[in-house]
Amino acid sequence: MPFHLFDAPLAEPSHFVGFAGNRINRHSEKRSDDVVTLALASANARMLLIGDGRILVDRSSVDGNAFFSMEAASALLPGLDKAIYLGLQDEMAILAGPTSQNIEALPHGIEAVDYRSAYAQGLIPNDQIGAMAQAVSLLAWNDSHKFCGRCGHETVMRDGGYRRTCPNCEAQHFPRTDPVAIMMVVRGDKCLLARGPHFGVGMYSCLAGFIEPGETIENAVRRETMEETRLPIGRVLYHASQPWPFPYSLMIGCHAEALSDEFTLDRAELEDGRWFGREEVMTMMDRTHPDGLMTPPAGAIAAHLIRSWVESEV
Ligand SMILES: [Zn+2]
Repeated sequence: MPFHLFDAPLAEPSHFVGFAGNRINRHSEKRSDDVVTLALASANARMLLIGDGRILVDRSSVDGNAFFSMEAASALLPGLDKAIYLGLQDEMAILAGPTSQNIEALPHGIEAVDYRSAYAQGLIPNDQIGAMAQAVSLLAWNDSHKFCGRCGHETVMRDGGYRRTCPNCEAQHFPRTDPVAIMMVVRGDKCLLARGPHFGVGMYSCLAGFIEPGETIENAVRRETMEETRLPIGRVLYHASQPWPFPYSLMIGCHAEALSDEFTLDRAELEDGRWFGREEVMTMMDRTHPDGLMTPPAGAIAAHLIRSWVESEV
């Protein structure tokens, strides 16, 4: 039987993960070198203020607000020369600026919130969390690529922060996104969840690892699973992706079919790991597990991989 190429759920799974609510039109084909200067002069531009792992949030607004007017941003930020351009949203130019603002000296109602809290606790609207991911990753890349990787000369920002050029050797440098495979290993009616030593108490999640140069997503899933558990993997199915601004990763979520019951954990990477049945995983999802074990919070892509398996008919 022929199959339909787009025979997939209408509700795209990636749409529901944390950091996915970005509504900015990036205008990537129209960005000019003076796009930041033009946007800074625009009366209705908005700016995200980011620095030291935190984003400034106006908590006096009902839903929280991280899109500051230029007037408010200028008052909070000493210099705007390192601002980058994210794009347009609702006819407004959206910029992001690095700030070293003293957290103690913020005006009443303004708080410096760490990225994970802003996202995990929903302290700003969903679209602004998505914009934050874009801003954090792009600012981090600009900050770590001030010098040419080819000749060592100082580089110059172009295209609103989406390119850096070297005036000495004319090399052009573009922002990077680091792909990470995150895989939920399943075998029929059970799945393998594990925990790293840095996880919160009782938290068990999917395996994950960086995709290496020259490697397919599927082979990275098989290699990482083999390295961490010695489990052979057969079929690999892509499920969803998630921008992960720590500092510029893209999580690529897959389901992976284990070909054996036997596994051996790499204790250098993992503190614990075992097979979990569907019923037990459901108690971990709704926080009723008798031993307090739990799966990651709702916005995490691991939580979506786990939920889709629990609700599937494997
Ligand atoms: Zn150079």
